[in-house]
Amino acid sequence: MTADQLHTTATHCPYCALQCGMLVGGTQGAPTITGDPRFPVNQGGLCVKGWTAGTTLAHPERLLTPLIRGAGGHLEPADWDTALDVVARRITEVQGRFGRDAVGVFGGGSLTNEKAYLLGKFARVALRTKNVDYNGRFCMSSAAAASIQALGLDRGLPFPLEDISHASVILLAGGNVAETMPPIMQYFERQQAHGGTLIVADPRRTATAQWAARHLSLRPGSDLALANGLLHVLVRDQLVDQAYISERTEGFEDLRRLVSTYWPERVEGLTGVPEAEIVETARLLGRAPSAMILTARGPEQQAQGVNNVFGYINLALALGMVGKPHGGYGCLTGQGNGQGGREHGQKADQLPGYRRIDDPSARQHVADVWSVPPSSLPGPGISAFELIDSCGAEDGVRALLVMGSNVAVSAPDSHRVERRLRALDLLVVSDFFVSETAALADVVLPVAQWAEEDGTTTNLEGRVILRRRAFDPPAGVRTDLDVLTALAACLGTKRYFSYGSSREVFDELGRASRGGPADYSGLTYERLDAEDGVFWPCGATDGPGTPRLFMDRFPTATGRARFHAVSHQPPAEDRDASYPLYLTTGRVLAQYQSGTQTRRIAELNEFAPEPVAEMHPTAARLARVSNGERVTLTTRRGAATFTVKVTRAIREDTVFVPFHWGGEQSVNRLTNPALDPTSRMPEFKVCAVRVDPLRSEAPE
Ligand code: SF4
Repeated sequence: MTADQLHTTATHCPYCALQCGMLVGGTQGAPTITGDPRFPVNQGGLCVKGWTAGTTLAHPERLLTPLIRGAGGHLEPADWDTALDVVARRITEVQGRFGRDAVGVFGGGSLTNEKAYLLGKFARVALRTKNVDYNGRFCMSSAAAASIQALGLDRGLPFPLEDISHASVILLAGGNVAETMPPIMQYFERQQAHGGTLIVADPRRTATAQWAARHLSLRPGSDLALANGLLHVLVRDQLVDQAYISERTEGFEDLRRLVSTYWPERVEGLTGVPEAEIVETARLLGRAPSAMILTARGPEQQAQGVNNVFGYINLALALGMVGKPHGGYGCLTGQGNGQGGREHGQKADQLPGYRRIDDPSARQHVADVWSVPPSSLPGPGISAFELIDSCGAEDGVRALLVMGSNVAVSAPDSHRVERRLRALDLLVVSDFFVSETAALADVVLPVAQWAEEDGTTTNLEGRVILRRRAFDPPAGVRTDLDVLTALAACLGTKRYFSYGSSREVFDELGRASRGGPADYSGLTYERLDAEDGVFWPCGATDGPGTPRLFMDRFPTATGRARFHAVSHQPPAEDRDASYPLYLTTGRVLAQYQSGTQTRRIAELNEFAPEPVAEMHPTAARLARVSNGERVTLTTRRGAATFTVKVTRAIREDTVFVPFHWGGEQSVNRLTNPALDPTSRMPEFKVCAVRVDPLRSEAPE
């Protein structure tokens, strides 16, 4: 055994919601990373992002000192005492002038459970502002809202990943997991080896769609029409599980009436999926011993995202699969802690344990844990995009603290977002690099990275895991938890924020979550270590976790799941003569989210150095552009220039651009901020676009 191996730490990847186990050794300047063969989720597998994750630790652009914007308008190095003092003083000034809610807090789905929890507590107890929300609003909020209303609870996958291996037929809607989380493919490979069938619904023939047995190339924005059409066939061919519907659900008759109007020929017109494929897919699902419906960002990131997910949950319920082994409905969460990050209070309407902030008993419970009167806790605030869009307004947010998010790249209509951020009286960003958002800040606070601090995350299965520290943070860098406790002290609320370690924060989180839907009170760091993670809810230290939900009843008022009879609506912005194509966005294998980390890794930039616009040869011919040419994409919000890739792996009416880049390369300068009425999810996945050769003037 080498010296490196002697010092190897079993920890987890900083990126996506698979949270692959990895072994980190070597030194901070030259870390060695291998997949952890013992961790059951990835069983040794990693993707290229995981292999290269150590590169950011000693990166030359790493922030090692706080920065304050000086009189000359530039960010200049400062010491921590000065930086924290400036932040606290200016927050106090803003709140004195404009009220408590004039200070906003913006978190992220990559923050550990401890950070998400403490950020929510910091907002409600130290700042006493109602305005706290996070970037998960742009990620899984539609699936979360639909799951809560239909099933009574939101846990991305209500079953272990291993169920995928044993499902007879899986319909995956709008997810390209072969590129975004490659180690998950081992489960689909095992499913295939067992004779199972994977069907992918996506406007693009993605790597996942190419791998699948069937591909439904649906029009962007038509998911609900497809789901209702599939259910029409299931009802018509008597393939629904009538006994399950009678015993475990309510509301089916309204839905049966509604889907009677979604006959296959009509649905082909709405979705572009041939009638025969709709019928064959429904019959495959309806005749399968076990059928699973999975959704990802495709159907969810739309202004009718919640209704789209209702449509897919309706299917799983009608098939009688929810709560049975190897079937049911699940959402493939995207961000590293997208699941835990939406459970513990960094959301505008939420308290820890997935409790509602407008529930008097929840307020009492959490206030008792925090030793504050319930009346001191603010009520619900506004959602992520609305919070950002209110920045600088007379009655809006005047000072914003951003932690673990790069909204200048990840929010829709990003030109407008930049303008709003510039209009603030104070913008404070904690990050490891000067991200596009940090570049606009008045104060930047340098914080520790994933391998430099202990903390827990909750993966896409609802498995709570312990991410271990492999190295100490570099000199000059503090953890986010340290930043929050230090700021709380500067604001005169130190007595509520006395923690010696992340473990103490986690233990308090457990008490605050006790009895809530996402109950972590039976979890300890020791258990998470010893058991390779534990599935929530887990309310007793000597009790098991809950790998599979909904087995006997649903946590709704009646104990039954609810069907939702919802009709297809066209996208918020449809194609027309001026903007004749659909624009859709997504991820690529070698970059991650807003790219703050991955765009700084040379190996990843070799794979994906810039955003490339993919379009079909027919669309390219009509737009008079050819492969490799620079083109201008124009929507009602602006224009941006990309290199075009002409490919038959996309619908003729659709252009795809990945969203990992900022500034002039940001496709989110073009996307539509129309919001879902319930989840407040922006419509990232569909808007109208025009493509022009760069050599000609793009229209206004
Ligand atoms: Fe695993 Fe996701 Fe990390 Fe890739 S990015 S190694 S799939 S956790």
